[in-house]
Amino acid sequence: MAGAKLKMWALPGAELTVPKSLLMPGGGDELVKGPCPSFLIEHPKGLVLFDTGCNPKIIDDPIGYWGEFARHLPVKWSKNETLDKQIQGIGYKTSDVKYVVLSHSHLDHAGGLTYFPKAKFIVGSNELRYAYWPDPDRRWAFILDDYLPTRNCEWIEFANDFDLFGDGLVQFLLTPGHTPGECSLLVNLPNRSFLLVGDTVGMVEMGFDSTRQVTMEHMQYHIGAVRRGAPNTHIIGDMPYNSDCDPDLALQNAQLLIDAGADSVKLEGPKCEVINRLVTNGIEVVGHTGLTPQTAANFKQVGRDEKDAERIVDEALRIATAGAFMIVLEHIPDALAETVTRSVPVPTIGIGAGSSCDGQVLVINDAIGMGDRWPPFSRQYAYVGKTIIEAAEIYVSQVRDRTY
Ligand SMILES: [Zn+2]
Repeated sequence: MAGAKLKMWALPGAELTVPKSLLMPGGGDELVKGPCPSFLIEHPKGLVLFDTGCNPKIIDDPIGYWGEFARHLPVKWSKNETLDKQIQGIGYKTSDVKYVVLSHSHLDHAGGLTYFPKAKFIVGSNELRYAYWPDPDRRWAFILDDYLPTRNCEWIEFANDFDLFGDGLVQFLLTPGHTPGECSLLVNLPNRSFLLVGDTVGMVEMGFDSTRQVTMEHMQYHIGAVRRGAPNTHIIGDMPYNSDCDPDLALQNAQLLIDAGADSVKLEGPKCEVINRLVTNGIEVVGHTGLTPQTAANFKQVGRDEKDAERIVDEALRIATAGAFMIVLEHIPDALAETVTRSVPVPTIGIGAGSSCDGQVLVINDAIGMGDRWPPFSRQYAYVGKTIIEAAEIYVSQVRDRTY
């Protein structure tokens, strides 16, 4: 059952810079940035918070709160981004939160527990005991002050998987390993629909032989038209060829598409610096890899040999890391699309990439059978082109017969 009434917000918390060796065995000294997010889930029976990030005291005094170890964990976080402020930003108060599910009790997850003295806390069994008495070599990662003030709060320990509301929408899964009582939440969010105003419009509506001739003005015109027809649907606008070749130009052009009516923009290829610039300036980005028509020599399937397949997986990962919230995979083998879908942390949308993608997109002109030539992967659910010609022929003959 899809959770028609469920909503979820990802709340970014502090950003920690850590050596890779801390995250994986043999990771080395290379420094990586890691987020410490929380997730707020709105269920008809109550608000659920998954994880609470770091304690805000580390903004001013990380060594005072975390101890000497904090010297090795540089923090980037502002007082405007603390968990209570983010929950307020959505329109709730911290006291509205009914359940706090704690994935585990490390310092980057349990730091905000004290915001919710009235909530029920849910953890995997043995987690609390371990948080108070961890193995000595791990003790630095557990801060007693994170959970000591909640000692008299209501804590529930689950020793098995548990369906939180009995409707399959939010499921507690016991996933021990990182700590003895570590858990995960499986959240069954509703499906979403998007409209993509693609630069394919140049070929299927405007008579060009490639998408490269499509200009910003063309895209603004078409996005505006779609917005007027679909005032409440998320519209993704395609960045035309060369409109996104450097971060400054891309930001300027993406803003023009947003002003024309788009909610987000899509751009082709692993232009990670561009994606990052747009996202950090508040513009949501959809990535696109596999066949990328703006630069492709032909429209044949790509990713067939091992090297090309590796390139596509790598590009998809880089696009997601740069901040895209979704990735279009075009005309690649089904098995490769499945690999990419499993590898990236964001939804994949397939066009000629098989049914294992998280979602699908088709050019509407192809799907309804406009014109007389369609990509091999596109199904025709009607032959509207034929219907138009038949109607026009009847009209012309009636005019000639003077019966109209
Ligand atoms: Zn941890």
